Amino acid sequence: MTRYADFYRHSIDNRDAFWGEQAALIEWNTPPQQICDYSNPPFAKWFVGGTTNLCHNAVDRHLKTRADQPALVAISTETDTERSYSFAELHAEVQRMAATLQGLGVKKGDRVLIYMPMIAEAAFAMLACVRIGALHSVVFGGFASGSLASRIEDAEPVAVVSADAGSRGGKVVPYKPLLDEAIALSAHKPAAVLMVNRGLAPMDWQAGRDHDWASLREQHLNASVPCEWVESTHPSYTLYTSGTTGKPKGVQRDTGGYTVALAASMKHIFDAQAGQTYFATSDIGWVVGHSYIIYGPLIAGMTTIMYEGLPTRPDAGVWWSIVEKYKVTHMFSAPTAVRVLKKQDPSWLKKYDVSSLKALWLAGEPLDEPTAQWISDALAVPIIDNYWQTETGWPILTLANGVEQQTTRFGSPGKAMYGYAVKIVDESTGEELTGPNQKGVVGIEGPLPPGCMQTVWRDDARFVNTYWKSIPGRLLYSTFDWGIRDADGYHFILGRTDDVINVAGHRLGTREIEESIASHPNIAEVAVVGVADQLKGQVAMAFAVAKDASGLDSDAARLKLEGEVMKQVDHQLGAVARPSRVYFVNVLPKTRSGKLLRRALHAVAERRDPGDLTTMDDPAALQQVKDLVG
Ligand code: ATP
Ligand code: MG
Repeated sequence: MTRYADFYRHSIDNRDAFWGEQAALIEWNTPPQQICDYSNPPFAKWFVGGTTNLCHNAVDRHLKTRADQPALVAISTETDTERSYSFAELHAEVQRMAATLQGLGVKKGDRVLIYMPMIAEAAFAMLACVRIGALHSVVFGGFASGSLASRIEDAEPVAVVSADAGSRGGKVVPYKPLLDEAIALSAHKPAAVLMVNRGLAPMDWQAGRDHDWASLREQHLNASVPCEWVESTHPSYTLYTSGTTGKPKGVQRDTGGYTVALAASMKHIFDAQAGQTYFATSDIGWVVGHSYIIYGPLIAGMTTIMYEGLPTRPDAGVWWSIVEKYKVTHMFSAPTAVRVLKKQDPSWLKKYDVSSLKALWLAGEPLDEPTAQWISDALAVPIIDNYWQTETGWPILTLANGVEQQTTRFGSPGKAMYGYAVKIVDESTGEELTGPNQKGVVGIEGPLPPGCMQTVWRDDARFVNTYWKSIPGRLLYSTFDWGIRDADGYHFILGRTDDVINVAGHRLGTREIEESIASHPNIAEVAVVGVADQLKGQVAMAFAVAKDASGLDSDAARLKLEGEVMKQVDHQLGAVARPSRVYFVNVLPKTRSGKLLRRALHAVAERRDPGDLTTMDDPAALQQVKDLVG
């Protein structure tokens, strides 16, 4: 067995040899001539001269060996449906969609915007795009017309694929009116709109522009659309970051590097075997959905599960019932979802047989220790934190258990993944901090490994200026996250670079204070922001969701819990970290992807305008904060 430390060193010291070996994990039409062209930093070109196709590697490649195995299972607890497609059936559906898109005028290099709920047709559309060399740009279904319009303007799609409606918690969310409004708002007008009609909501039809998927599919039942062999560097898609810290950035990804990176991650990080089952509870609107609902598992020849619905409906056991029924081996979710489950009756976790599970991977935001411990006790499988970004496409920090089994340390997403030259750097001088437990910005020395962003869509200057800093002799990509690395190479993410607060000269990560508060038995979730204070510069202010709020209906009860929380912070971190107030709220303001909208919370806590809220989930959450701080 290889030691991970050696594997990692090889990837950094012998970059081209390492990635040349990984390139053999996928099928090429023409093999690459050069592994990495970094002659124009920070732009990296991977597997230059090679031609391949993402859809070929995700679908066609498996027809020889596993045509009849389920490839995609689309489960909806909103419409009470389950649809399963074998690789052969998926192949047929993708070709029908590809032929339909071609019929609507979509060609290689064109963009197709996908604004869809979590239904199988969304996967067909993504795969169909990359099959013909078109770029998809998936926009989270349910984003309002303003957010959608700005993405239509940026991507300038030839066609849009959408559906009549999504559904959330049993409530139908009509998409077509939002889409029509967005197109009206946008300066760019797509030539064609392809609608999947689920029969959930009525639709206004614009003749000449709008087309019905069911009838076009009928016309293409026997379609045969070969994969377009594209250059490795041909873009496969664009996707926006979550917008947690500001205006979302349009990430552009290549084809060959991404396919290799995902194939390698399935092997080394997920230790996945063809025939196993992967269930990522994310949404195709986010990067996890791209890499680990659609492409990664399919490239690995696994069955992938797409789920439309809430984790708590019809009851809090629904995910575990899916694990039992489909013998899920790999599960991927987010800390925010686990915290939702944590508020439910714990007996739901014991109702189903989850012994097929090998591990649960969690990503997207800091995984606090109490939450990790809770789900670990409940499931009795390894809980593996992993840290990455839309920009990188696959984990930067986690454990590569396919290379060497290593133990999780709660609170740490783990070690630097192969290919990533992770550096902790001093924020002001840019100098590398090489000692253990030194706080700095998490950076990656260029080139970024395969699979990471090529550039910001149509804005090379923004890519260079936003992410890259010169430090003597080299270029460093900034993650804008703050972290430390311990003596054993385990990293700890302390928050975003703008989340550090300064209380009377002490620099404190909001994350540390949140961890401390969350370890109180009656706290389910908490957010801490630094608010301006005349005396101390800044003070911490906490907004917490109680696990059991039933006893919190009087001021006295709230004050009592607030006092307990403060005492706990005093005890664990010291009085300097003690929040000036702990407010109890029903929900925290979050993005649609479930991330804390700290920027907005911070603004409201300081009685400022919260700014761009287009990616916010529930406006009522911010209103309650406003009311509390007065
Ligand atoms: P934007 O860049 O538009 O502000 P965003 O950073 O939230 O939005 P994403 O790319 O979805 O968009 O999220 C990546 C960020 O999420 C990371 O930079 C980090 O701050 C946080 N994150 C992701 N995974 C983890 C993790 N395992 N532990 C701690 N933080 C994480
Ligand atoms: Mg970001």
